[in-house]
Amino acid sequence: MGGRVAGKVALVTGGASGIGRGCAEKLAAEGAIVVITDLQDAKGAETVAAIEKAGGKSEFLRHDATSEADWESVIGQIKARHGRLDILVNNAGIAIPGSVTEMSLADWRKQTAVNLDGVFLGTKHSIPLMRQSGDGGSIVNMSSVAGLKGSAILAGYCATKGGVRLFTKAVAMECSNAKDGIRVNSVHPGIIETPIWLSILTPGDPGTNAPPDLDAMSTTAVPLGVKGYPEDIANGVLWLASEESRYVTGAELVIDGGLSVR
Ligand code: NAP
Repeated sequence: MGGRVAGKVALVTGGASGIGRGCAEKLAAEGAIVVITDLQDAKGAETVAAIEKAGGKSEFLRHDATSEADWESVIGQIKARHGRLDILVNNAGIAIPGSVTEMSLADWRKQTAVNLDGVFLGTKHSIPLMRQSGDGGSIVNMSSVAGLKGSAILAGYCATKGGVRLFTKAVAMECSNAKDGIRVNSVHPGIIETPIWLSILTPGDPGTNAPPDLDAMSTTAVPLGVKGYPEDIANGVLWLASEESRYVTGAELVIDGGLSVR
């Protein structure tokens, strides 16, 4: 166990799977009390058990990131149990692929509700509790390489992730003006091995549910030649959450093996 975020209280949305789970495990291993929220109860309990087995402190709350009432409840419970919030990782996200001419308005709204409304609500309801301690805080918003570059089958997803990128910078300026010590940054993962890819059809196999071969994709698309893992993203999130990044706000941390550069 390290102590890079010792004594801090962290909230990770979508923390029961993939990148969120990696972030929760990393923050707990470095001394934070980590509140994990997600729609996935069983996976949430499993993640808490793994963290506690490793000597960390964690708890799970079921939470729909698109629901303002759920946000009020989660922040209220954190305030009651821990009295403070230092780190928010707005990580929960979904990817609904498809051509823009075929995407239903319902799917567009579902995509936007999780990836943008969720980040807005989390930020809105966390900042007042962060401000109460007077110790500042760190908000890390999970964007994507798809928030920096266009992708032919992911117009809706790209729109939300580009939105997260500039929402982050705007809130960073708002917090700086308020002199509240809260830093706000975005993280932009490339091709990371997580279950989210199961929801994205193989571009070459329209009509099938076969997930893309991430190794093959990475060999051709990623300059470093390999896919990434949740821990690669968690390492960046830990840095942004810790005092080591005390002079960083409104920034975008790209962790993609060079994908967005090519
Ligand atoms: P993941 O393994 O599917 O994890 C996302 C978690 O968020 C899942 O447990 C999911 O539950 C949960 N979730 C979905 N909607 C929610 C809601 N309304 N409220 C609360 N939780 C909700 O995906 P991941 O790859 O780790 O993705 C994490 C973040 O990284 C996302 O924002 C994603 O866009 C971003 N990202 C991922 C990659 C990548 O290559 N993996 C690349 C760039 C950016 P369900 O299973 O029920 O949906």
